[in-house]
Amino acid sequence: MKLIGAHVSTAGGVENAPANANKIGAKAFALFTKNQRQWNAKPFTHKNIDEFKANCEKFGFAPDHILPHDSYLINLGHPDSLALEKSRNAFLNELQRCEQLGLNRLNFHPGSHLKKVSIDECLATISESINISLDQTQGVCAVIENTAGQGSNLGFTFEQIAEIIHRVEDKERIGVCIDTCHAFTAGYDLSTQKSFDQVFSDFERIIGFKYLKGMHLNDSKKELGSRVDRHEVIGKGFIGLDAFTWLMNDARFNQIPMVLETPNSENWAQEIQLLYSLQN
Ligand SMILES: [Zn+2]
Ligand SMILES: [Zn+2]
Repeated sequence: MKLIGAHVSTAGGVENAPANANKIGAKAFALFTKNQRQWNAKPFTHKNIDEFKANCEKFGFAPDHILPHDSYLINLGHPDSLALEKSRNAFLNELQRCEQLGLNRLNFHPGSHLKKVSIDECLATISESINISLDQTQGVCAVIENTAGQGSNLGFTFEQIAEIIHRVEDKERIGVCIDTCHAFTAGYDLSTQKSFDQVFSDFERIIGFKYLKGMHLNDSKKELGSRVDRHEVIGKGFIGLDAFTWLMNDARFNQIPMVLETPNSENWAQEIQLLYSLQN
């Protein structure tokens, strides 16, 4: 079964996310468990936690259907030690918030070298950051998102992601989320059947589907290999609708949260319906 949803709002409290997802016909959802543009957050109250869990149950969302996303400020590969410490603390807090909500995965962007250290050094720092955070938490899998490779962001090749995973000690608690827009603008062509098949056979060989813990379903406003991250409505961008038809009919993508981060949240219900209609 495909679990299609979107990155929904938590306005008024994290406990409102399940109802927002249900309203648009989602079978999965993503959320920020705190303001993604701030370092600090108020701890959850018992009410937040109890109501979040109750609402997930009410609307039929199991932890495996939910893909929390961490703050945009965090850089687990930061070349500066003080800034790295700050990011590591914030990431630990994000994992703990997921633990408190009974969730089992946290999606994050791997990190950036800021042109101050080599790619290899930055990848090693990211793995070390993950090891430190996983050591202090339980039950939450750190899910690396592939990036478009904008600026000095790493994680835009399957090899870089594999290298991070290679150095992570607890292989049970490391995973990957593939964002279709990021993959495409990083140079992975999903727009023809032949290249689509090649991309995911490379993914299997270099990373492995056993690590796939989620997908971000976005079309792209920018061309193949442009290394620019601009999401487009499904079927309206350079990737095109065919790629999403192949995804929706490929069992390798079953039973993981697949969430829209497309512009125009008011159209998400329709986009979710469109995606389900592509299934044979
Ligand atoms: Zn994404
Ligand atoms: Zn993006």
